[in-house]
Amino acid sequence: MVIKIPELKSRYIPVQSTDHIIKSDVHWWKHTSPFVYPNVLINLLTVNKQQISDIRSNMDGELFLLTDSGGFQVISGKCNIDWKKSLQLQIDLNASKIFAFDKPPVKPKYKGSLSQFIYMTDEETKRIIEENLDVAIEQSLWLKDNYPLYREKFCYILHAKNYEHLLFNLELINKKIGDKYNEYFPGGVTYAIKASDNLLITIAARHAYETFVKKGIYVHFLGMGSFNKILILIRNEITTFDSSGMLQAVRINEILTPENYKTKMSVNTEDFMYDGQFCICPVCIDKDYNKLCKENATMVGRNLISHNLWHLLKQCVLLNSFRKDKYNELSNKLFKLNIDMQRCLNFCDDCDKNGFDITYNKYKHYLKKDETKQNTLF
Ligand SMILES: [Zn+2]
Repeated sequence: MVIKIPELKSRYIPVQSTDHIIKSDVHWWKHTSPFVYPNVLINLLTVNKQQISDIRSNMDGELFLLTDSGGFQVISGKCNIDWKKSLQLQIDLNASKIFAFDKPPVKPKYKGSLSQFIYMTDEETKRIIEENLDVAIEQSLWLKDNYPLYREKFCYILHAKNYEHLLFNLELINKKIGDKYNEYFPGGVTYAIKASDNLLITIAARHAYETFVKKGIYVHFLGMGSFNKILILIRNEITTFDSSGMLQAVRINEILTPENYKTKMSVNTEDFMYDGQFCICPVCIDKDYNKLCKENATMVGRNLISHNLWHLLKQCVLLNSFRKDKYNELSNKLFKLNIDMQRCLNFCDDCDKNGFDITYNKYKHYLKKDETKQNTLF
């Protein structure tokens, strides 16, 4: 029997970052998978139409497919596509949401670097936000004339590194298209928050909840790679969020186990560190990893990616089941939350009681210093 993950109000979208995993025998979307989870975010430029149709033909249900817009690859010097090409590629893959062509407000530290970036100044960031909105509006009008059905899936990508940038985005939208957000971006909105501060993530998630979620508008959060962030996003009913980090933890030999949230081990050596069965999830229950290590070591790692996903999804199902007025209490009871995270959940409760503006003013002095103010661009 294949286990199906329930449809969740707020759900995690696993990132498929390499082509070889798309081709591998282990997929969470295939009907041969021990559990079915038909959600994935892929890199627009490395996956082709044929691969996505292969995936779809191996599924029972409908695939929820997200892609990046390609803008990140452009600024890192890895490719040279424009906004029309970005739309065309997303349309060809029949993505479930079409993302606007966004330029992240960062510059690569070295030519071609995908990991090291220099933050832009506040002024520079605002200029990029405006540029992104102008391009997105142009894209929306082009979709209206050429692919009206795909325009229904079109989402604006909202970049922000602090709370002021969130407000700046809304002011600009109001200035350029008035109250016609749903007409231009009927697919919803994607928040791209470049920050590690959990309180800022909470403020952004709450902002998204007040501005969009409450009105039934789809919201995605890009690159949210930790359990703490997932806790915040589900509390604020963010529709979907992705993270490559948590799932790919297996690459740095971090295996999630029910007993110990993270266990480091080596998966590609000859010996598996556990004696006998270490997990009874649907992926591991019929596996003898000691044997598999000797026979086909790469399959150990691939199975453990699905194993990690299963345990992450279990956490998501659990968090989705909490009543919002008990969310804080239950989270504190079940997890070891530090003071920072307790403050984040208190912020959400305070918003419910006193509204966003009053609560924001009460908590804003806890925000970490804005990194954009300390680094200059060139
Ligand atoms: Zn397992």
